[in-house]
Amino acid sequence: MNIPTRADIVIIGGGVMGVSAAYHLAKRGMKNIVLVEKEEFFGTGATGRCAGGARYQFSTEINVKLSIESLPMIERFKEEIGQAVNYRKCGYLLVATNEKDATIFRHNVELQNSLGVQTKLLSGNEVRERLPLMKFEDAIAGTFNQEDGIVDPNSVVAGYISAAQKMGVKALTRAQVTGIRVCEEEVEAVETTQGTIQTRTILNAAGPWAGQIGEMAGVQIPIIPIRRQMFTTNSLKEVPEDFPFVIDFAQSLYFHREGDGLLIGMSNRNEKPGFDQTIDEEFEFVNLEAAIERMPLLEQASRVSHWAGLYEVTPDAHPIFGGSNIKGFAICAGFSGHGFMHGPVAGKLMSEYMIDGKYSTLDVSMLDLARFEEGRLIKEYNVV
Ligand SMILES: Cc1cc2nc3c(=O)[nH]c(=O)nc-3n(C[C@H](O)[C@H](O)[C@H](O)COP(=O)(O)OP(=O)(O)OC[C@H]3O[C@@H](n4cnc5c(N)ncnc54)[C@H](O)[C@@H]3O)c2cc1C
Repeated sequence: MNIPTRADIVIIGGGVMGVSAAYHLAKRGMKNIVLVEKEEFFGTGATGRCAGGARYQFSTEINVKLSIESLPMIERFKEEIGQAVNYRKCGYLLVATNEKDATIFRHNVELQNSLGVQTKLLSGNEVRERLPLMKFEDAIAGTFNQEDGIVDPNSVVAGYISAAQKMGVKALTRAQVTGIRVCEEEVEAVETTQGTIQTRTILNAAGPWAGQIGEMAGVQIPIIPIRRQMFTTNSLKEVPEDFPFVIDFAQSLYFHREGDGLLIGMSNRNEKPGFDQTIDEEFEFVNLEAAIERMPLLEQASRVSHWAGLYEVTPDAHPIFGGSNIKGFAICAGFSGHGFMHGPVAGKLMSEYMIDGKYSTLDVSMLDLARFEEGRLIKEYNVV
């Protein structure tokens, strides 16, 4: 497909945010939308490398509300878009092994319950009873929600992009944005490796690269790329079908069923910001040792695959929605390692913002870019 020379909206990035926004803008009747993705395929950035987790369990009201809107959209995905996305409600079990986390977990459960989310608080003993394959002698408390689960990110991307294309969105791969032309503080054009597109409106949905795109337009966006990695194991028949998504919170160590085996990941707290997506073998060993410590049967397991991806981290671990100091330059990025699950509602919210100038599904106006300068940060605690 030749790159169009003009567009009403150019969406930069073909991850979950970009494709969801493209779908929702087109569904609302917007014409002449062009989406540009630098890679050969859509969804190969953070979205295609994520753990696929979808949860209601957050520590801030706005994140819980984003889940309340977004997870049912994932549940209805096949009905609405025609694409199965394999939402498996295995539940998330977050385990606290220190008093500070346990106290915050209690507050989180109260907050979630007050918003109608049925998360349960578990005692240390209840955690141990639910996880007989794991060693959690130090568990003080846990939180469990059966409605949390796992979804296939690639199917979500494929569903949105093909539905958007059917409604006339032009979506291009191998089209890397190299520059943004701005005239008198207003967007004028997007320069790509395939040509220039004249436009008055850009949506920056470039995930971990959103800061780079911002710089091209003269917009400071505090999103830092941080590498995260995980691996999968061979089939483990001891792990029951209903094994939940377990998070050893203090270690940022997690386990969930992937096929007949497990997917295991751990966040390296010492990881330096950067765009490197190769595996850190040394840290993988640290992860493996920590995992064996919690689940001794893993000593017999072998690794089937492993990969790394980038979190798109903001100073308060909340996303950035809305406009900027440059007219026509909007942002939907910075979901800080838990954005896949919020992709459906995020795209819908951006379509509302870009068409109506306000959000109607959920007020996310407090998550604007200006909050960083104005000191209106809202810290999320449940970051893995
Ligand atoms: C290891 C890991 C595990 C995770 N686990 C979970 C989880 O369990 N649950 C969850 O909800 N979230 C999880 N996340 C976070 C989630 O993946 C992200 O929040 C979400 O996918 C962000 O989507 P996005 O569309 O903003 O970014 P991306 O998916 O990265 O999309 C941005 C796109 O922009 C493109 N792009 C960048 N620069 C340019 C340019 N110059 N020109 C054109 N295109 C460009 C990129 O190639 C990319 O495809 C995880 C992330 C990682 C890395």
